[in-house]
Amino acid sequence: MGWTPRSAEILRAVAAYQLAQEALAASFAARWAKALAAVEAREVAGSLSELEAAYAAAVRESAAASYALSISFYRLVRALETGRVIGGPGYRPGASLGSLWQDFNSLTGKRTGSGPRTPLPVDTRNPFPAEDLKREAERAAETFRHQVADRVAKHERERAGRGSAALDDAELMAWEREFLESLKTGGSGAGGMLVQDGGRDMIHTTLQNDPGALGYYRKTDANPCYFCALMAGRGAIYKSKRTAAFGAHPHCHCQAVPIFSRRYQLPAANDRFSRMWRDFGGGSLADWRTYYSKTTKT
Ligand SMILES: [Zn+2]
Repeated sequence: MGWTPRSAEILRAVAAYQLAQEALAASFAARWAKALAAVEAREVAGSLSELEAAYAAAVRESAAASYALSISFYRLVRALETGRVIGGPGYRPGASLGSLWQDFNSLTGKRTGSGPRTPLPVDTRNPFPAEDLKREAERAAETFRHQVADRVAKHERERAGRGSAALDDAELMAWEREFLESLKTGGSGAGGMLVQDGGRDMIHTTLQNDPGALGYYRKTDANPCYFCALMAGRGAIYKSKRTAAFGAHPHCHCQAVPIFSRRYQLPAANDRFSRMWRDFGGGSLADWRTYYSKTTKT
């Protein structure tokens, strides 16, 4: 009661969170690129199980970081918006805006904000689901199969079909390079999605368990695709019994930002996408795609 949402601080936290999630996907991608770089194109098929182990370990590590970061972010935004602190993993007695900012700053590695040390009133419930390690491992295995193992098998078949004299050296090298590049891009895009889902899916589920949460909106990266811009332009999605899945895609760095007060404030980009949608005036998704790419290019 009587608490005014600290909108400017919240928007700073939201921007820092989106960048930190994007950085987790990037560090995962770098790790995957390094694992691939250690193998010659002709050795990839024989090294699949090592590559898969490296892939799974990198997903696990970065997704765990995303999970911890996202809990800290959720708790911070909730406190800035309502003046109350929520229990669950990482909760410490006597938590204040100062201590919540400190936790968040240390997980993002940047000092984005600070606050008073006055302990906040506590909602003791724990709305945060535990990490679903089994499901995550299954998704990582499935992603690896689609993005890496299947491509390797296809490449091996093509190589066998070609015979030894079909390509000269330069062509052959370019072909192998392109193959390795496709493993790198495909594996990092889909894996980066799993990494960010460690936190993104968690927040989406937590909303449903937290009576204090009203819904969420989509915070995009600096250069979102037409689909994500459209979703962000819709503003807040109030939660219901059947809140639809978040709908991230490979190479997407959009995040779910929880809201706890009708007085929430959207980032400027979301308002810009709403205006763009109104100016567009309706049409098919394909029309919107054309309109969006024309409008954002100029
Ligand atoms: Zn996106």
